[in-house]
Amino acid sequence: MFLSQKMGNINILIVEDEQRLADILKMHLEEYGFKVETAYDGYIGKQMAEKKIYNLIILDINLPLINGYELCREIRKTNTATPIIMLTAFGTPENKIAGFDAGADDYVVKPFDFRELLARVNVFLRRSESDSSLPKKLKIADLEMDLKTKAVTRGNKKIDLTAKESLLLETFLKNRDKLLTRDFIIEQVWGIDFDPNTNIIDVYVNYLRKKIDKDFEPKLIHTKFGFGFYCSERKEL
Ligand code: CA
Repeated sequence: MFLSQKMGNINILIVEDEQRLADILKMHLEEYGFKVETAYDGYIGKQMAEKKIYNLIILDINLPLINGYELCREIRKTNTATPIIMLTAFGTPENKIAGFDAGADDYVVKPFDFRELLARVNVFLRRSESDSSLPKKLKIADLEMDLKTKAVTRGNKKIDLTAKESLLLETFLKNRDKLLTRDFIIEQVWGIDFDPNTNIIDVYVNYLRKKIDKDFEPKLIHTKFGFGFYCSERKEL
């Protein structure tokens, strides 16, 4: 199991109104060396998330006062960097998409095995750790993405992206001038167990195009019908 040397400095916030579940998760995560704080309703969770930057947030959807989707949206207004894992009682595509739309990075369907959650927590913490050794900015044409803050500009114009749009753009920028299959993109942006038969990629590529390509030249995101997509300054690969 992946263990970071800096584990004692990793702060996790759990927002979950089933106090027994919240306490068990806290106890298990602390056994792995994480620092864990809990909130039992959405209002307290919001206050805590505003006061402190956590390394990761685990967020239940059905919460008193402020539900998980709303809280996620609130957090994303000021913080697009902290990974958010949602706990959902329903694993339907509609529920998952609603979570991603709100800005969540991943979800775990209840009831779940603690090891499943731990594995996902580690994926995000490993990702943010290895990011520190990567170049700080990715560029193509006049578009720039700051990998640390996830801030995006094109032609000096600031562009606001949701968490998923941002991850999608990052995947394109890290693989520029390469043809990416739909399966590859799904795996990078939504995780391996996401149903590849949904049209979610097309939906999100369209969202992204509206923001980074519609009012600019040259177009950067291209479709290769029947294969997938590529990011390039050139029209043809
Ligand atoms: Ca709940």
